[in-house]
Amino acid sequence: MKAAVIHENGELDVVRVEDVPEPAPGPGEVVLRVTCAGLNHLDIWVRKGRPGTSLSDTPRVLGSDAVGLVEELGSGVEGIKVDDEVIVNPALSCGRCEFCARGQQSECLSFGIMGLSRPGTFAERVVVPARSLWPKPAHLSAEEAGALSLASVTAWRMLMTRAQVRPGESVLIHGIGGGAALCAMQFAKLIGAEVVVTSSSDEKLARARELGADHTIHYRNQDVATRVREITGGRGVDVAVDSVGAATWPLDFACVRQGGRIVTCGITTGPKAETNLQALYWNQLTILGSTMGSDEDFRQMLRAVTVNRLRPVIDEVFTLDEVRQAMAKMEAGRQFGKIALRIAP
Ligand SMILES: [Zn+2]
Repeated sequence: MKAAVIHENGELDVVRVEDVPEPAPGPGEVVLRVTCAGLNHLDIWVRKGRPGTSLSDTPRVLGSDAVGLVEELGSGVEGIKVDDEVIVNPALSCGRCEFCARGQQSECLSFGIMGLSRPGTFAERVVVPARSLWPKPAHLSAEEAGALSLASVTAWRMLMTRAQVRPGESVLIHGIGGGAALCAMQFAKLIGAEVVVTSSSDEKLARARELGADHTIHYRNQDVATRVREITGGRGVDVAVDSVGAATWPLDFACVRQGGRIVTCGITTGPKAETNLQALYWNQLTILGSTMGSDEDFRQMLRAVTVNRLRPVIDEVFTLDEVRQAMAKMEAGRQFGKIALRIAP
């Protein structure tokens, strides 16, 4: 079967589409015939690797998100049939540790992600634990369903479980255009929050306003902290949602109100930033880290998407053979919404 793989860590040119052996399901696992897969920044981190580490297995199939049809069941699988149309929850957990027992699967001692800890979804077929599969929401296209999971569950957990945003609260979301940022905006609007978004692109800010953003800030032309204070009558926002990392971290402290919350799920611009400890204690701020989501976060997100007929914003759809172009676009930050790969017709 065809798959997008890497044999070593590196730049874009290490990504190849080649033939790899057909996967076989183990106990409790399912073979999925992938229709569409979605790109995430995680794919770039997996491709680049961490300095001083090497890939545990090669070739490594990339990709975390997917929708597809169940093709084959491993032993002991119940509740799923061949030809069921399902989406993958890419979060992998042991199901046995203390944190899994508490229902906090994204805190699992052996937490993993499809494409990071086992072969990924940028392939004609992928083996997935049966308990990671959920019915595809009927109102979504294959591209929307294939790109839904990781960004949406990440945004859901950040807003609902970690920051616990309430109706009427104000939420600052940096870098509108990224998948998680756009999902966060949709969920914040869904529950009646006021949303302020930033970008360096007038076009992206205009699109965000069409999708419900209440206020937009061009961060190259305007001082974000000053604008946030103007918008909020000098008070600051209740919650800052940050998937950007080093570039926006200091801003978060300048933009939230006394007693505000800062929630972070990503480091697109880098992992290290200075923290203003004086602002942290004097303003009695709360910093919240958030990684993907628990099974319950995923269930709630999927239910909210289904009942409210929400759709992830799709930027562009590529074929599997065009995976390098797709990754290049995401790496350059040119996308508005999710980039998807169409794998089966
Ligand atoms: Zn566990």
